[in-house]
Amino acid sequence: MEKEMNYGSDYKYIPTTSVGSGMGIQVLPDLYYHTIQIVNISLIGNPETQEFVLVDAGMPGSADTIISIAEERFGKNSRPKAIILTHGHFDHVGAIIDLIKHWQIPVYAHELEMPFLTGKKSYPKPDPTVEGGMVAKMSPMFPIEPINLRDSVEALPSDGTVPHMPEFHWIHTPGHTPGHVSLFRDKDRALIAGDAFITVKQDSLYKVLTQQQEINGPPRYLTTDWKAAKESVIKLEALKPTVAVTGHGLPMTGHLLSESLEKLVQEFDHIAVPDYGKYVDDNLH
Ligand SMILES: [Zn+2]
Ligand SMILES: [Zn+2]
Repeated sequence: MEKEMNYGSDYKYIPTTSVGSGMGIQVLPDLYYHTIQIVNISLIGNPETQEFVLVDAGMPGSADTIISIAEERFGKNSRPKAIILTHGHFDHVGAIIDLIKHWQIPVYAHELEMPFLTGKKSYPKPDPTVEGGMVAKMSPMFPIEPINLRDSVEALPSDGTVPHMPEFHWIHTPGHTPGHVSLFRDKDRALIAGDAFITVKQDSLYKVLTQQQEINGPPRYLTTDWKAAKESVIKLEALKPTVAVTGHGLPMTGHLLSESLEKLVQEFDHIAVPDYGKYVDDNLH
């Protein structure tokens, strides 16, 4: 008998939310994002063609919500061609096993993220001592043990193409996790950035709750390689995106996006890197 997929043993519902929770916005005709508690999922595809892909898989326990969001936009019993993961943190794979079972579709992630998705390796423990507020303090309850998607997850093609997203290519943007990827489309410079940078100050519970728009580096308590994280932001800024959907916070566009990204690159060590914490390298200050 084929072995079952399983979540990590520390998998659980996380009781936190934001004012954005339950809200969705069509950012472009074929780019829709929706906030599940504190994290965003994206549906890529035009509702007229009914062909679409889901990027990231929400919080633990959110499968029914994600299925109804997809059906509302693409029609009853519609299902995506695939799920693309920016990375494997619990808030991006929270509903994934339920979704795979319901839709019977493949999942793609970067090769370096595979150990965390196939039961081989836990993420490093979140750092509750990192400079930051309540979300960092809550972080010890976040699941870090690997889920095991077995044969349902495949590595993204090494040529940069994204299965079922013909106009996009993936960009390796490590730092937050080793196999973190962002997705970019040249024709309109649309960027799906995952947690490579975010548009809310994730370590402030107040700002998470209110979703006050403010560019930031990756969420601090889970980021372990700040040098790589900085290089990833430099890489994304160089693409000059005109619209960005991030893993947390509201989408950002136009001048606000370009100016904020420029500022993030120039002042990364000050804005993004915490002043103290166990994953902070002293050389960065
Ligand atoms: Zn993350
Ligand atoms: Zn996240």
